[in-house]
Order: sequence, then structure tokens, then C-alpha cells
Amino acid sequence: MSQNIERHEFQSEAKQVLELMINSVYSNPDIFLRELISNASDALDKLRIESLSNANLSDLATDGEIRIKIDKESKTLTITDNGIGMERDDLVSYLGTIARSGTKEFIKAMNEAASSKNDEFIGQFGVGFYSSFIAADKVIVETKKAGSDSSWIWESEGDGSYTIREGDRVSNGTSVVLHMKEIDKDNESSKDYLSEWTLRGIIKQYSDFVTYPIFLEDISKEKKEEDKKEETKEEPVNSMKALWTRPETEVSEEDYKEFYRHITHDWEDPLERITYKAEGSSEFSALLYIPSRPPADLFFQEGKHGIQLYIRRVFIMSDCRELIPEYLRFIKGVVDSEDLSLNISREILQQDRQTVMIKNNLTRKVLETLKKMKAEKPDEYKKFWQTFGTVLKEGIISDTKNREQIMKLCLLDNSRGEKTTLEEYVSRMAVGQKNIYYITGGPVKNLEISPKLEGFKKKNIEVLLLGDAVDEVWVNHARKFDEHEFLSISQEDLALPEGSEFDSGEGKEELEKTGFISKLKESLANMVEDVKISTRLVDSPACFVQKGEPISPQMRNFFRSMGQEVPEEKKVLEVNPSHPLIKKIAADTEDGSADIAEWANVLMGLAAICEGEPVEDGKKFTRLITKLLDK
Ligand code: ADP
Repeated sequence: MSQNIERHEFQSEAKQVLELMINSVYSNPDIFLRELISNASDALDKLRIESLSNANLSDLATDGEIRIKIDKESKTLTITDNGIGMERDDLVSYLGTIARSGTKEFIKAMNEAASSKNDEFIGQFGVGFYSSFIAADKVIVETKKAGSDSSWIWESEGDGSYTIREGDRVSNGTSVVLHMKEIDKDNESSKDYLSEWTLRGIIKQYSDFVTYPIFLEDISKEKKEEDKKEETKEEPVNSMKALWTRPETEVSEEDYKEFYRHITHDWEDPLERITYKAEGSSEFSALLYIPSRPPADLFFQEGKHGIQLYIRRVFIMSDCRELIPEYLRFIKGVVDSEDLSLNISREILQQDRQTVMIKNNLTRKVLETLKKMKAEKPDEYKKFWQTFGTVLKEGIISDTKNREQIMKLCLLDNSRGEKTTLEEYVSRMAVGQKNIYYITGGPVKNLEISPKLEGFKKKNIEVLLLGDAVDEVWVNHARKFDEHEFLSISQEDLALPEGSEFDSGEGKEELEKTGFISKLKESLANMVEDVKISTRLVDSPACFVQKGEPISPQMRNFFRSMGQEVPEEKKVLEVNPSHPLIKKIAADTEDGSADIAEWANVLMGLAAICEGEPVEDGKKFTRLITKLLDK
């Protein structure tokens, strides 16, 4: 075996985390063990998953276990698994850099916590493998990837660099050898992590539900002597009792939270927990969570999505997309089926009747939970909506069966500056109002100042401000809510509630007499479809509306970027007859003192600006404005 030792530098973020680990007075140092056990358990899961598609590995994937060895003489604690193991390159990319998505946030939070001496807060976090350096001053990882011929040894004192050399491990899996720090005798709460009793307590507290047996063994000399006297059968420390199979009354909230941390690696508590047990034709239990913060990959096509599938308490796969619809991809948790076959593959899952049934049941249960949350815990629901509302709205498009129910869960912005539900909107509708009015095309902060709202505000008719890109799509799919059709206020011809028709305001008749409108139309002939006298404007001089089906500029760009054809935009410029600027231009055009072509361009620019849209030719617009102001 060659003794070629490579030395590598940690990536700078990893260095930062390591430094914090080594120096911080960690309020809860115990968590290092939880993190290492969790990594070992993940490695065993990964081997199981691999073995489903690689028959060569199936023998290796049977008796998964985690062994923790105490050696008081050498002051080491070793955590060993017979899981997937790592290749040389894995060691560099997994243990030399930080791949965890939330790390930047973590470093920030950590620095803040350190400066405010709030180490309670620090204690909530786990930073995976790097947590080893809370308890150890030297860490050695011996590993062999399942199916590979070579094994590797990674070693570091957490001081900015690590080494990798070839090892002589024969079986697949990983051992993490921790050379423990001296116990801090001046600190009363400092624990001896080489004490079997201490470790037992920690494993029970944090890792009891891990589905592989965790064996704890003290190989120190004195201990061995003792053991010789009484040969006892080895028992795992953890009960391996799947939390989801136990009655809710027997499981503490802290255990549920700990389990959530175990499966998600999230350090914040979940927002909500959902337990479900289906009996009858399809038997399964589920333990699901709604996280309180979004994962970084929520909007990535390749993002992790879905829940863990167990079959009769045996872990089968993670990210099982077949069990939960795409629009509930933020849900985390476990489903344990009694009926599926143990050697199920993804392909079979996709067509399986049971899977469809589980998915439908879970969808119903999650939507019910959200409904309840909305009614009973409005503040938490608001937080949920802020975090995942945009994703949930996708369900209005894709899940026609539950469409109505998802629509009822929406919290939407309105023209009164509030958040409203559709039901509340309907309950406030004016006498004679049949439609639900809405505006799309840009963030809410742009929509709320749109000139198109002016007439509605004056008549006290509520308009929904739909600021998410997905909004325009779902209103078009749903078409109506509770028999009330959605109507975009960007349409040229607007059906208004009977008795609430907009009055055109003074100035209409005079303007009609002048021929100003036809002159404007002539000079904008190839830029707009039509020019009209507006009834919907109050304070603004002009705005754009659309002939036919209104599609916002944002939506047009989106469709084009997807390579789809979009019907040509038919813009109509509406001018406000009672606005002093319009009156003045009309009069000046009439007596020949104004150049209509120039003014027409200015009005186009102003209409765009009022909507928060860019002016088509900004340079020309500025030149014209300057010139006109000069006059
Ligand atoms: P996380 O587990 O959140 O991804 P860690 O820093 O704990 O972050 O680990 C980084 C990566 O190192 C893991 O994702 C995994 O690929 C690898 N790893 C860590 N421990 C083990 C192990 N015992 N067996 C195999 N791979 C491991």
C-alpha cells in the first residue's frame, strides 16, 4: 500500500464553521453525537437505496448497524457504520467543503449569536460532521465505498487543513474516530463523553428512533475484564421504535421535533405536525411536518421533494415524489405502508394503485390541516402562507379535484391594502356585483398604484392584487370561485356591477368635440390598437388596457422564454378627459400650438410609468419631456 499523504486546505466557509466549533462555548455539546449517528443512519439508508438498483450490493445492505466504541486508554470514541462509505473524491467534496444549503444562514446566525452571547441559540444548530470538533481535537475518518476496492483515511485537527491517504479497511462503511478533548475541570457542566452512562443517555434522548440498531461498547481494559465475568447478549441502546407507530399520547413533543431534525437536518422547529393512520383497504401510517422555513431548492426542478417511504418499518427510499403532489413538495416526513411489496421499485410505485390512494389520502389530510390551522392559528397560518403560499397555489392549476378547497386557503392582497380570502371577498361584494375583479402583472407594490384601480376605488369596489407569476395562470384555469367569474380589470370592456358604472367625469363631451382622440390615434397608429376616452381614470392622465384576453407583459415574457407563441398584444390607450394635462394638450392641439406626435409619445411613456413598466424609448421620452418643460 502506498503511503502517499495528500494535504488539502478546507474551503473558507468550512474553516469558519470549524473555528466556531472549536472555540465556541457550545451550549449543547451533546449534539455532536446526534449528528454523527444521523450521518451513519443516512449512509445506511443510501446503501439500501443503491442496492435496489444494483444487485451486487444487496448482500451488503442487509444487516445495517451503528457501533459506538469507547476506548478510555487512547481517549477515543469511534462511530462506525456499515453503510455506503465514501470514495477519495467524496472525502474532498463532502468533508472538505460545506455542501449544506443553509450554511451561509447558519454562519450569519452563529456570528450574531456569538456577538450577543446568546449561546442558547447556538445550541439549536447542528452542522453535521463538523460538530465532531466540538468534542474532539483530532478526527480520523476511515472509509470504504460499497462496491469499491480502495479505502481511505481522512484526518484533521480542525486547523485549516486535512490529509487523505489510502487505508486498509476491508468492509464497506465508515468509522469516525474522535480523539476527545480533555474534560474542562473548571466547568461544572462539562461532560465525560467516554462514559458509557453519559453516551447511553444522549443516544436515548436524540437517536432513539433511528431505525438501525446502535450498539455501545466500552473496549477499555478494565471494562473488558468485567465483561468476561458475565457474558451478556448484546442489546442495542435505541428502541428503534418508529415514532409513527406509537400512540401520540406516548410520544413527547420534544421527540417529535427531534425526529423532524433527524429527517430534515433543519435546525428550526417545524410549524406544524400531522399524524395520520389509514386503516381498511390501504393500511399505512404517516408522520408529516410543515417546516417553518423554505428549503433553498423549493423552486428548482431538480429540488429534493417528497417524503420518506418505509414498508413495514423498513426504510425504502427518501424523496418519494409519488406519495405527495408537486404543490405540497414542502411537506417533510415519513409514510409507512403495510401493503406495498418490499422490493418495490420507483417504476412500479409510479403506477401502483396503493400509491395513488396514499397520495390522495395524504393530500386530503394536509389540506384539512391547513384549513384548521387557518381557522385556529391565524398567525401561524400567515407565516405558512408567506413561506409556501406561492407553491400551494400551483395546486389550483394541477389538482382540479381539490381546486375549490385550495382556493379557499389563499390569502390574497386587495386594493384596500389588506390580505383577504376569496370567501371574505365574496361576502363584501357590492349589491349587483357578479364578478371578482383582479389585476395582475407585477409585484403588489406596482399593482397597488396602478391607475386602473382609480375608478374602482372611487366606487368602493374591491380588486384583488395578484402579484405572483402563478396567479395569472391559476385565475385563468379556475375561471370562477363560488359561481363568481374572475374578471381582469385590464380588459378594454369591463362589466361593472349594475348601478356602479363609472361616470366619465367632466370633460368628456368637450374632448369628443375636439377630434383630439382621432388625431392621437392617427399618430399612434402602429403603436396601439385604439385610443379611447377613459371612464376608469380619476387622477392619472392615461393608462393602457387590453383588447381581448388580457395577458400581462410578465406572462408574455414567460411564455416566450418557454418558446411558446403568445397572441399579439392589443394595447388600447385610454386618456382621462377630466385631467388638466389632457385638457391642455387637447386645447393646444386644437389651436395648433402643440405638436400632437410629440405629445402622443409622452402620453405613451406616462401610461407605462404609471403601471410601473419601463418606457419603450427612454431616451426619446426624456428628450421630449425636457423640450416640453422648456416651453
Ligand atoms: P449533511 O449530513 O447535512 O449532508 P455533513 O457535514 O454531516 O452534512 O456531511 C456531509 C456529507 O458527508 C454527507 O452528506 C455525506 O455525503 C458524507 N458523510 C458524512 N458522514 C458519512 C458517513 N458516515 N458515511 C458516508 N458518508 C458520510
